[in-house]
Amino acid sequence: MARPRSLKGRATVVAARLAELYPGTATELCALEHRDPFELLVATILSAQTTDARVNLVTPALFAEYPDAAALASADPDHLEDLIRSTGFFRAKARSLLGMAQALADRFDGQVPPAMADLVTLPGVGRKTANVVRSVAFGEPGLPVDTHVGRLARRLGLTESEDPEVVERDLDALVPPAGRGAFSLRLILHGRAVCTARRPRCPTCVLADVCPSARLDAPVVPAGSRRSARAGGRPGAAGGRRRA
Ligand code: SF4
Repeated sequence: MARPRSLKGRATVVAARLAELYPGTATELCALEHRDPFELLVATILSAQTTDARVNLVTPALFAEYPDAAALASADPDHLEDLIRSTGFFRAKARSLLGMAQALADRFDGQVPPAMADLVTLPGVGRKTANVVRSVAFGEPGLPVDTHVGRLARRLGLTESEDPEVVERDLDALVPPAGRGAFSLRLILHGRAVCTARRPRCPTCVLADVCPSARLDAPVVPAGSRRSARAGGRPGAAGGRRRA
């Protein structure tokens, strides 16, 4: 197809193609297992510097012992560290979880607030985590910007910035509020499966005809090979990770 003339036009095509490739709502696309906003907030804090699969191995025992903010706020720090040790950075994460749970209990009646202005006052919660919780748990507009989202947004010419807050602002201007959470998750899935940091597989990419960074002469690394950064099967097909 002819390249869309405007940035918004390009963003619209990108969003539509990715929605076809990775179908589902933000809640269905989120790989962190959870039953409510509190569990998602805990899981998202734990997900820093590790995989969602690793977090999902840890959270069932954690949530069984600490099902809400009041329970987590009174957890023994050493025991909490033991429970989350395998996710890495476990001391800092335990401090964040305890502080976050205490803040929820003290200031929000034990409930996770949906407003960005409130979420970012919680220990261990920045805009990225807050946007995950807003979009996945509450269905509110929220566009988490991680390393994949930033890289793809720049390659697709949707932003020039390296600053996650500026990237978020630039993408917010191009993506309708209701679609922002799913758009972010789809960029992440595409960044893992196709548009990897080192070897973007442009010749097989569904965005190649509208992407200003496409290199159609690039060698294709087969999906599933050890050199491919794809983390598992067809990303979108594994959605719906809410625990029953
Ligand atoms: S065409 Fe290449 S650079 Fe552009 S989004 Fe696809 S894989 Fe990434």
